[in-house]
Amino acid sequence: MAAQEIAGWRHIYSGKVRDLYEPESGADDRVLVVASDRISAYDHVLSSEIPDKGRVLTQLSLWWFEQLSGVPNHVLSTDVPSEVAGRAMICRRLEMYPVECIARGYLTGSGLAEYRDSQTVCSLPLAPGLVDGSRLEKPIFTPSAKAEVGEHDENITYDAVVMMVGDDLAAKLRSLTLDIYSRAETIARDRGIILADTKVEFGMSSTGEVTLGDEVLTPDSSRFWDAALYSPGQAQASFDKQFVRDWLTSDDAGWDRVSSPPALPAEVVEKTRARYIEAFERLTGKAFS
Ligand code: ATP
Ligand code: MG
Repeated sequence: MAAQEIAGWRHIYSGKVRDLYEPESGADDRVLVVASDRISAYDHVLSSEIPDKGRVLTQLSLWWFEQLSGVPNHVLSTDVPSEVAGRAMICRRLEMYPVECIARGYLTGSGLAEYRDSQTVCSLPLAPGLVDGSRLEKPIFTPSAKAEVGEHDENITYDAVVMMVGDDLAAKLRSLTLDIYSRAETIARDRGIILADTKVEFGMSSTGEVTLGDEVLTPDSSRFWDAALYSPGQAQASFDKQFVRDWLTSDDAGWDRVSSPPALPAEVVEKTRARYIEAFERLTGKAFS
């Protein structure tokens, strides 16, 4: 899939969801980060897009960057080319660290799977008797290693992060991640949303500063649960791609999980779009226009 042409900017990279561009005029340390309407599930980019998803991700990230005052972030400007208006930001170009920084305050997903095997998450021992959705005594840092496109990110231990980036930086990434999680969890809770876990990415700026990059605290990077419906011991009602995952694993989809996933029915697309918008509106208190 060819990336969109944007006057003045040269395409340099496409991830599953975002496309990155650098200034055509030559290297300065800016990068244009464009969020597409693409959606991924089970490590596949789907052939169906979710209308307005790129704008929701970008606007929600910008709102969170503002809430997280004191944490250096990559945003320089939202004055972007008109063809990507609302779904792009001009950012400091970072040298990204090869660690996905995850904080979890609740047990579910890959954390729950590891816990059931060994009563640990990322080798951290946890209390006995926890179930799907249990709140942890205190939030934990559960890093993972960035995988190649199409591969699954792999949970790693804190010691492995130390081996990758050194003692000081590992400690900094952990404390920043846990600080972001705790602050965001409180804000979300006030708005009736449980932030079960979230993933952030950091990189080093050209001036050597550890900087928060990518997107933050969106339904793609986080698990948001409806606090009113929260009930541990089962899967929680969530604001993310749950409709997509549920449909893809249903008999209707008839998908083998190996070949390219089938296109999503219009109803699943529309429900997913509504969910993303609802998350934005509940969190920010603003109408999505
Ligand atoms: P990846 O392609 O890295 O495996 P992904 O599929 O999640 O993961 P996207 O999130 O779609 O990728 O693309 C965003 C990419 O841009 C990520 O690789 C992210 O690390 C990188 N990135 C985000 N912010 C910056 C920045 N300010 N400077 C340089 N790279 C950035
Ligand atoms: Mg990403």
